[in-house]
Amino acid sequence: MENCIFCKIIKGEIPCHKVYEDENCLAFLDINPVSSGHTLLIPKKHHKMLVDTPDELLAVLMIKVKKLMRIIKTAVNCDYVVLSVIGIDVPHFHIHLIPRFYNDGLANFWSTKKYDEGEAEKVTEKIKEILL
Ligand code: ZN
Repeated sequence: MENCIFCKIIKGEIPCHKVYEDENCLAFLDINPVSSGHTLLIPKKHHKMLVDTPDELLAVLMIKVKKLMRIIKTAVNCDYVVLSVIGIDVPHFHIHLIPRFYNDGLANFWSTKKYDEGEAEKVTEKIKEILL
């Protein structure tokens, strides 16, 4: 992809703080981190979103995520690392790995709600209907 910022990072046209690289993927520090050590893992081949990414590559990426979570946790001495896949900012599939502390004061990513009467059953049926 010509105008994809992540493809340019992969090609070395834009610098990054690279933490890991192999034939399938690249991991580098997010330029606007939520916390120190906030890392992005991206496939080297351009896939717009998670749903566009081949299963075999997703499996490989998730194994890298598991390793990177442990490494980042040790490196920044945080309490845990959260994953986030949003997919609406840069149109090149990427996984955020965000170091967190139990008392870091960061908000949760979203607020919650309660289901209205019968809503949970309807949504459950709808999802199951499409799955079949
Ligand atoms: Zn790209």
